[in-house]
Amino acid sequence: MSAPRLRVVRGPSLDDPVTALAGVSDIYEARLEKIGVRTLRDLLLLFPRKHEDFSRVTPIGSIRPGMKTTVRGWIYHIAARETRYKRMKLAEATVSDDSGKLNVVWFNQPFLANQLHEGDEIFLAGEVELNGGLVMKNPDYEKASGDPKHAARLVPIYPETEKLTSRWLRPKIQSLLRYADELEEFMPGELLARRGFLSRAAAVRQVHFPESAQALERARERLAFEEMFVLQLAAQLAKRARKALTAQPIPFDETTARGFVKALPFTLTNAQRVAAWQILQDIARPQPMNRLLEGDVGSGKTVVAAMAMHHVARAGFQSVLLAPTEVLARQHADVIQSLLGPFQVDVGLLVGSTPAAARKPMLASLAEGHLPVLIGTHALIEEGVQYKDLALTVVDEQHRFGVGQRLAVRQKGERTPHFLSMTATPIPRTLGLTLFGDLDISILGEMPAGRLPVKTSLVPPEKRADAYNFIRQQVTAGRQVFVICPLIQESDKLGVRSATQELEKLQRDVFPELASRIALLHGRLKSAEKEAVMAGFQRGEVAILVSTSVVEVGIDIPNATVMMIEGADRFGLAQLHQFRGRVGRGTAESWCLLFTDAEDPQALKRLQAVVTNKSGFDLAEIDLELRGWGDLAGYRQHGKDFKMASLLDAVLISDAQNEAVRLLDRDPALDGEPALRRQLSAYRQVFALD
Ligand code: ADP
Ligand code: MG
Repeated sequence: MSAPRLRVVRGPSLDDPVTALAGVSDIYEARLEKIGVRTLRDLLLLFPRKHEDFSRVTPIGSIRPGMKTTVRGWIYHIAARETRYKRMKLAEATVSDDSGKLNVVWFNQPFLANQLHEGDEIFLAGEVELNGGLVMKNPDYEKASGDPKHAARLVPIYPETEKLTSRWLRPKIQSLLRYADELEEFMPGELLARRGFLSRAAAVRQVHFPESAQALERARERLAFEEMFVLQLAAQLAKRARKALTAQPIPFDETTARGFVKALPFTLTNAQRVAAWQILQDIARPQPMNRLLEGDVGSGKTVVAAMAMHHVARAGFQSVLLAPTEVLARQHADVIQSLLGPFQVDVGLLVGSTPAAARKPMLASLAEGHLPVLIGTHALIEEGVQYKDLALTVVDEQHRFGVGQRLAVRQKGERTPHFLSMTATPIPRTLGLTLFGDLDISILGEMPAGRLPVKTSLVPPEKRADAYNFIRQQVTAGRQVFVICPLIQESDKLGVRSATQELEKLQRDVFPELASRIALLHGRLKSAEKEAVMAGFQRGEVAILVSTSVVEVGIDIPNATVMMIEGADRFGLAQLHQFRGRVGRGTAESWCLLFTDAEDPQALKRLQAVVTNKSGFDLAEIDLELRGWGDLAGYRQHGKDFKMASLLDAVLISDAQNEAVRLLDRDPALDGEPALRRQLSAYRQVFALD
């Protein structure tokens, strides 16, 4: 097989569409487009997922069953036939070399009998099996040459989607390798030399068709590094830009801090104390804070934020707290009101359903500076709320906000407000450093004292009735229960159907005696209806709350002791852990019951990890390893996916960060690195560098 040639006469440009390559039809153009490959450059940068090592060529006389190897021989005989049973079409061949003979069979590719001919010298790459005699089934094949693509080398395996096979991609990409020199080298020459990295062109060539395992390793190193380096550079630039902004300093006041802590109905955990201290120090500076407060559900983030808001109010400035949903905004307003009320700090609540009559005076008093604390949903941002002196913005569960929205919050006002985001999504430390390189992070790594761990079990199908009995006992004892349903059908985006079916099942078949105390929460309900359901649950009238995952159940119900999760295998581990955190908030013992029909050992292993692991951080890392980072909610919105770099590679991350700092110290505006500046533009949106 000869490599397809470029059709273009004037000499190819990597900006040409993929159809400039011979053998790329409109159909394939469309398939490539689906995975984001439009130009020859894109195709050249479509890296293999891994390689199969078929570099060893074994004489037929020496092959053994179970070996994965390449064989080089002559076709002695080849023919197509159809099996008698099942009428399967086969191509069968006998291949020989000086040392012996081997049988080969290809299923469903009878045309091979016409493509390959008796007397052809070929490579076969595959696994040797014992079936009567030694046989290779469906091996990769090609005419023997000094420049093989599918055998007798480290063979690239591409992400096979959208009907694009590695076999189809290999010759196309190989024919492009000679244009790799046209790829722009954007890494600083000094860095490349000092770290002994391959050039970009060499790395790209070697990552597709490596000369050796060592060459492949060096190529991967270089490509992973450049990816992480550009990201870290963008983060560092954002951080420096932020340092150049001015913010209202809120001087630390010991009396204010002590007074707040003293009035609390509990003592702060050490982690809360440290986080609060870090935040109060940050906001005392004339540059805007940019801090992420990370802590498991129930670790007590709200009170830490409230402490900062109290400080800001005492200094005569305003704060705003944004929650992802109305239900949560209300809960925050209640809690913060009760914390700040004793200090005569007023708290306003502004949500979508706030009537105009209440809204007007509130907006007026914000603009005049009479209202020091405002809490609400993102509807607030769209409102164009005017503050007199906004000094602090707090965002709860910020990953649910789009980048644009985050910025809108940040940029309000003349001085840049200090910015605190809170999340219960346990972001592994390395991931945090990577994605939020321009953020400082505080972690609440411990729970308030006296919390009992939630007992978690994976309930096998035959124990379902027992589990229902247990739930009945809990309800009889006055406790409350969450039931979470997964989204089963794609069409059922808001989970209306799955939750409704679950409700009917529970009311009719399982707990008929409790039917009137079972309520339903899903994404189709109007916000007033959601509020009513949640209020009923909060008052204890509703004993069992059936909900979809799309509905925020982040509300604090200390009396809820059972979290039952249907179809648990459909959720990410971090998400399951978050659900679990909804119970165990009071002093009573609580349970999390995971139900699944999955039999796949991998799925069961993941769920078992939730049973045995109490830490959301550990679970997030396990999930990242098992399923990749796409499943950690919200990270993809950062707009960048990694091809090479591992987000768990702490050494890579810190090396890249150090190099980024070093370069910027030397050349803060990257004047000497125009190519690198162009490369960075992909990140401008993510970090708002403009
Ligand atoms: P989250 O981090 O999930 O937002 P919250 O701020 O809602 O957690 O706190 C969960 C519950 O724990 C609240 O009822 C809060 O009053 C309580 N709490 C917070 N800090 C402490 C503490 N140090 N000791 C005891 N209870 C606490
Ligand atoms: Mg919270």
